[in-house]
Amino acid sequence: MTPAEVYTQLAAGDAARRTGFTLAKRRAVLAKLAAELRARESEIMAALAADLGKPPVEVRISEIIPILSEIRHTTKHLKRWAKPRRVWPTLSMLGTRGTIRPEPKGTVLIIAPWNYPLCLALGSLVSAIAAGNAAVIKPSELAPATSALIAQIAAAALPADLVAVVEGGVEVSTELLAQPFDHIFFTGSPAVGRVVMAAAAKTLASVTLELGGKSPVILGPGANLQKAARMVAWGKFQNAGQTCIAPDHVYVPRADQAAFTQALRAEIAKMYGATPETSRSFARLIGARHFSRLKGLLDEALAKGATLITGGEAEEAARYLAPTVLTDVPGEAALMREEIFGPVLPVIAYDALETVLAEIEAGEKPLALYLFTKDRALINRISAATTSGGVGVNVTLAHFLHLNLPFGGVGNSGLGAAHGRWGFAAFSHEKPILENRFAVLDPLMPPYTKMSARFAKA
Ligand code: NAD
Repeated sequence: MTPAEVYTQLAAGDAARRTGFTLAKRRAVLAKLAAELRARESEIMAALAADLGKPPVEVRISEIIPILSEIRHTTKHLKRWAKPRRVWPTLSMLGTRGTIRPEPKGTVLIIAPWNYPLCLALGSLVSAIAAGNAAVIKPSELAPATSALIAQIAAAALPADLVAVVEGGVEVSTELLAQPFDHIFFTGSPAVGRVVMAAAAKTLASVTLELGGKSPVILGPGANLQKAARMVAWGKFQNAGQTCIAPDHVYVPRADQAAFTQALRAEIAKMYGATPETSRSFARLIGARHFSRLKGLLDEALAKGATLITGGEAEEAARYLAPTVLTDVPGEAALMREEIFGPVLPVIAYDALETVLAEIEAGEKPLALYLFTKDRALINRISAATTSGGVGVNVTLAHFLHLNLPFGGVGNSGLGAAHGRWGFAAFSHEKPILENRFAVLDPLMPPYTKMSARFAKA
């Protein structure tokens, strides 16, 4: 089937689904998906090992459990989210009954990236189904084993008139984007996000854009360097740095720089051993193109005077780049300009927090901003003074897992939000229904009199 035919087939069921796809049926589909994921755990691990050399535990923690948690949380709260909500009438609307009724958008498109290829394809599917939609998933062609497995999982566990997986690259994606989907949920780079939004403009599809960018870390004065180093190393080197909310670079008070980089070295050794290439806890880069991009960024920074604190070893054939920490990276190095998206961490010494905030302000709005401090006033000051998709205080990554918080970007890092009730809302149209019971609206109608002028007074 062509992408157009796939769309047409699913969209044909929109009207019937509006009344027929009951909450009980949605829950049953989600339960089936959960069971299928559990049953195929070893296949999932094998696919992610082939695509990204992902360690099995990391697969469980960052690919499977987030989807299962989303299913559990969604199933538990679905009734409340989906329930029509009565609202109070405003003064001029006395005598009416207002209700907000969430309805499915219809048939939606989910385009996923390669870095968490399972979680980011199926996590949003959970919200799409919960909200009563049919969905086409386009997994990333750069994670081919996981892409094929997603297709198999859908074929085995999900109704064919509800979910279709269309595999392929840019060409297929472009063809899908030309179809009049009711919503497009895109996770990927800001550059392709622009392509998606332009395509959506043609059909006036609504969009959720989960994008990326450079997520900074700020160590406040007096931060616990040991704890910060541990959190930063975990956030940065999980999945070999190929995480949208990975710390991109770290700002540290000048006086703390040496101790912090020392602590980072120690944490890296603790997590991945003295030779990370033999560690079973460290992933690989997705492909040759990404390897040479990252190696190029690293070499350029070193050539421009950066200091290598640890790491730097690279093996092209194995798509391996060691957990690497740099200091003294000049601002004009590409490493400081583009999203790094790999295991290279620049640590930047600062003298005044104002310059750090000004630098962050001058860049694109980040997806995440991390702050390490116990100083409540500083937490408030930085939360208020900066804009980012989300903020992590004394933590990295974990806000992704908190389903009572919206997850998403702002500006260049994204549009809209996912997870929990925000995911449900992304795939729903909140339809207002106004029912007239005994409202007095005659003064609004011609012929206009003094009375109607008084009524219409602001
Ligand atoms: P990408 O934008 O290159 O690709 C994402 C998807 O879009 C893939 O399925 C791909 O096939 C498709 N695509 C690529 N080019 C296209 C085009 N011209 N037209 C239509 N479709 C196209 O992103 P990626 O390299 O897979 O992922 C890395 C990026 O994703 C990083 O910027 C990262 O920060 C971001 N990301 C964001 C989140 C988030 O939740 N905000 C999560 C993961 C990754």
